[in-house]
Amino acid sequence: MSLTGRVRNNVNGVLIDVEGTALAIQRFVNEIGSHPPPLSQIDSIECKENLPPAGYPDFLILESSSAGDRALPVSADFGTCGECVRELFDQRNRRYRYPFINCTNCGPRFTIVEDVPYDRARTTMRHFKMCHECRTEYEDPLDRRFHAEPIACATCGPRIYLRDHGQELRGADVISYAQELLRAGKILAIKGIGGYHLACDARSNEAVNRLRQRKYREDKPFALMGRTIDVVRQHCSVSEVEAKVLLSSNRPIVLLERKAGCSLPESIAPNVKTLGFMLPYAPLHYLLMEKMADPLVMTSANVSDEPICYSDEDARLRLANIADYFLFHDREINIRTDDSVVRVFDEKAVMVRRSRGYAPAPVRTSFSVSRPILACGAELKSTFCLARDHYAYLSHHIGDLENFETLMSFKEGISHFQQLYGIEPELVAYDLHPDYLSTKYAQALDGPEKIGVQHHHAHIASCMADNAIDGEVIGIAMDGLGFGLDGKLWGGEFLLADFMTAERVAHLSYMPLAGGAKAVREPWRLAAVYLHQAFGNGCTLLKLDFNSRLTPRKWASLRSMVAAGVNSPETSSMGRLFDAMAGLLCLRDTVNYEGQAAIELESIADHDVKEFYEFLISGSEISALTVIKGVVRDLLDGVSHAEISGKFHLSVANLILRMAQRIKAEHGLNRVALSGGVFQNMLLLKHVCALLRAAGFEVFTHRRVPTNDGGISLGQVAVANARANSGRCH
Ligand code: ZN
Ligand code: ZN
Ligand code: FE
Repeated sequence: MSLTGRVRNNVNGVLIDVEGTALAIQRFVNEIGSHPPPLSQIDSIECKENLPPAGYPDFLILESSSAGDRALPVSADFGTCGECVRELFDQRNRRYRYPFINCTNCGPRFTIVEDVPYDRARTTMRHFKMCHECRTEYEDPLDRRFHAEPIACATCGPRIYLRDHGQELRGADVISYAQELLRAGKILAIKGIGGYHLACDARSNEAVNRLRQRKYREDKPFALMGRTIDVVRQHCSVSEVEAKVLLSSNRPIVLLERKAGCSLPESIAPNVKTLGFMLPYAPLHYLLMEKMADPLVMTSANVSDEPICYSDEDARLRLANIADYFLFHDREINIRTDDSVVRVFDEKAVMVRRSRGYAPAPVRTSFSVSRPILACGAELKSTFCLARDHYAYLSHHIGDLENFETLMSFKEGISHFQQLYGIEPELVAYDLHPDYLSTKYAQALDGPEKIGVQHHHAHIASCMADNAIDGEVIGIAMDGLGFGLDGKLWGGEFLLADFMTAERVAHLSYMPLAGGAKAVREPWRLAAVYLHQAFGNGCTLLKLDFNSRLTPRKWASLRSMVAAGVNSPETSSMGRLFDAMAGLLCLRDTVNYEGQAAIELESIADHDVKEFYEFLISGSEISALTVIKGVVRDLLDGVSHAEISGKFHLSVANLILRMAQRIKAEHGLNRVALSGGVFQNMLLLKHVCALLRAAGFEVFTHRRVPTNDGGISLGQVAVANARANSGRCH
């Protein structure tokens, strides 16, 4: 556009100083807004006009100064762009079949960055010296690879190699050999962008089962990678929005409804109606998937609940008994980042696990964070969050903070983020649960002021921040377990909330969590507790399948444990009520992964039932015993499990409607914020949103951050900030 001037990165973003005709400048500004560079994220464009002319003779890109300029977000890792894919399979291109092709619009970022400002010398690409041709592209402002820091080619860049448990397999073409092994039913550990995957042929029931056995992963669904969206469509129904998310450069795993005729083995995702699919996002994936008509299982490479492997040595050690072969490459991964998981609800992408492709891009907040905050999150599915100004830098998915390795990732992640963004927290927010490792970490910090935030207040605040709203809302937190203000385990909570406070208006009546942590793994325990509370000692005489499976000895020990109050903390958890339901229907006596009982209860539910059971509300107490009685009556009458499950979902939705209406009548509020792990249940969420909207409520659900505990740290930021601003930290 014949403009002259300068462009540079500064603390606030990108500063462009241009001179030219008013018309050209206007067109230029419009163009930036309407056709931004593919990976840019434009929060706002601010223009200052009529500055004194500087008389620039040319247009230059200036180096960014590093000191104090750390607010600039490091980009997330992005899937290979269309142009790079074309070059990858173009015989005439010099990067033909090169597994690390990338450009300014695609490729790894966050996972290779060691420090800021972002340039090659501070990434794990610093070990590779650019060849002349790459250097020329890198320095040419008109080239697509201008300042693409991970630029590489077969001459100068990283390479792949295949090993068995002994040594490198030389000679054969690595890709075609790997494909052959996969077709032969072998399990391969494949190094990717944020860590290793374990891959096998998804068509082979035998290979999938072998992977399950070796990984000690009984039932938790495996993610799949399909070569193209058409492959995905063979197995799942894919809506327009879902297709868009699958194809987006974030490249998450998308949870999709499995088609009725889906011919893939049930063992990929036992007793679940959805499959998690992703499309290739690294050039290596494109090469591997070439000519593959069937999807591959591509699951995080770990044993059971350990964090995903990301270093070569770690992979060799920990995956020795799982993988038959290793597909390595020599580009180091600096930080372990799992695949993200997204599902579509209400025509919108909803984050289930926010990680690779999204982190560490900040969540823009509607409130201003005056003093830098570190929020330590919760325990399961943990994330942390650093915040300053209008940005919440939510971490990638760290995992369950229960083993040493995950705790190390948590600590290292926090110092890495602090360094990347130059944030020295003045406030630290943490969960009130005294035993969470994140809580202990926060309390041991020296210096920053500490602010404890109740778990469900954090959930609701997270939902509000996610939707960029503030003020007072009806906060409905339906959750697993979270530490309550009375020291009990909350999880079925109706709150009157803003960022400052959360008043508990009503909750599910307390039930003994017989066996403590064991009760979470064994849903039959809660089923037995509810049954006993509803029917007394005579409950064992009810002609239920559930009873016939429970030995008198088990009954007796459970009852005496509860009576003596031994290892039976009280809980108002809605998640546990879902467990109890699954237990009563004999879907599950024990679970093999978090939420399994509720997921299976949802997957058998009849979606079209109209009847439901009534909860009994008296004052602030909500009793589920009437629901349990209704369910037992239906079971004795031979009503199908599908219908009972459907009725139960509708019951909870109607309870939420009734409570919202009551709070509205008393407090005049019309906005409802829904949060907590239970709302991962799509059938429940669908019912709740429909009922509330039909009754005229304005309903807010999660979108940018997960409704599960992965979103807690954002809520903690919002609450800590509000309290700090008001001077009320405790
Ligand atoms: Zn590209
Ligand atoms: Zn090169
Ligand atoms: Fe929670």
